[in-house]
Amino acid sequence: MKVFKFGGASINSVERIQNVGKILQSFSGEKILIIISAMGKTTNALEKVVDAFFEGRNDDALKLFEQVKEQHLNTLKYLTPLSWQQAENHLKDFFTEIEWLLHDKAVREYDYYYDQIVCSGELLSTAMMSDYLNEINIKNKWIDVRDIIRTDDNFRDAAIDWMYTQQKVTDIIEPLFNTVDIVITQGFIGATDENESTTLGREGSDYSAAIFANLLNAESQTIWKDVEGVMNADPKQFADATFIDALSYTEVIEMAYYGAQVIHPKTIKPLQNKNIPLHVRCFLQPELAGTIISNKTDHKLPPIIVVKDKQVLMELSSKDFSFVGENGISDLYELFATIKIKPNLTQTGAISILCCLDDRPDKIERLALAASELFDVQVKKDLTLLTIRHYTREKFDELTKDKTILLTQRTTETVQVLMY
Ligand code: ASP
Ligand code: MG
Repeated sequence: MKVFKFGGASINSVERIQNVGKILQSFSGEKILIIISAMGKTTNALEKVVDAFFEGRNDDALKLFEQVKEQHLNTLKYLTPLSWQQAENHLKDFFTEIEWLLHDKAVREYDYYYDQIVCSGELLSTAMMSDYLNEINIKNKWIDVRDIIRTDDNFRDAAIDWMYTQQKVTDIIEPLFNTVDIVITQGFIGATDENESTTLGREGSDYSAAIFANLLNAESQTIWKDVEGVMNADPKQFADATFIDALSYTEVIEMAYYGAQVIHPKTIKPLQNKNIPLHVRCFLQPELAGTIISNKTDHKLPPIIVVKDKQVLMELSSKDFSFVGENGISDLYELFATIKIKPNLTQTGAISILCCLDDRPDKIERLALAASELFDVQVKKDLTLLTIRHYTREKFDELTKDKTILLTQRTTETVQVLMY
């Protein structure tokens, strides 16, 4: 059995959804579990619905949701001319669920509502895809992943209950393949033991696919993207980015950790643990082999470049010229854990600690406030963190030319520079 993941860009128009149908036709006879994200930029649109709702602007929230509805209904009508009524009813069930909620008043925390609303993007896209495939005679079964993936209630970044989920995969998903070749379900979402919807973090569908690949002992996972495969840099930022045909799990987990937007960082572990190869292929050119990520060791890799903007440098200095020492450091890491923020880079000196963090204004403010009880705190914003793996002197010079460097860290493999 194979696991395929189709992201938002691969299903953002009638033509692209039809293209997915063509790709699946070329795999006819194979058993495939398909994980799908929300269409195009639907998740961003739904985030705006959440904001309006949470700020008590219920009418705005309903209006914004109306746009999401229309976009889906307009796409659906071209895809399912024969089974239009039935397909429309599928979508309407999800619309109603959300609209009920949008008439309410927010009494719980933001993240809870975020998950209850944003999860609809994947429910809608998968229902549409399933009905379209049935219409063109690619028989498939649609599954609400919230009946399968059980998580804790850490909304927006929920953790998987692997035991429960394994049981459901064995009891519900596996037997489906005795009657159909294709099973379709949602990426990115799950549910708590109280049937509240949860999400696994932005771009989490890659991870959902890896969870299923692991639990189904799949022969491979394929992520279908709009690029040829994994590149050594973001082609939108670097015109000379080059394609890499094979990478090790280790290299990819490092790239993702440093912020490369290739694959969701949690995706690799479930695959590596069962030695399941991951293919990254282009849905626009399915004849290309793409990149294969596996346990094979890397051959000579080009410099791999990751640029993270919107970085903050926080400098924490002891208030009385004493050493920061191990207590200062452990106090600080406790704050990171409480606030759930992860430094991208740290450096410790005699009387100060430097750390580079993503600029999540709410969290940075909380962290600075709490840390100011222990240290003198200074914050610098609007910085860029550049990471080069397998760096060369030339690449380093080229990418840091005309920049002011605030902090550099290097190992034999990797150099990181915080600059502006
Ligand atoms: N739709 C979600 C997002 O945009 C999950 C995903 O695309 O993987 O973040
Ligand atoms: Mg996506």
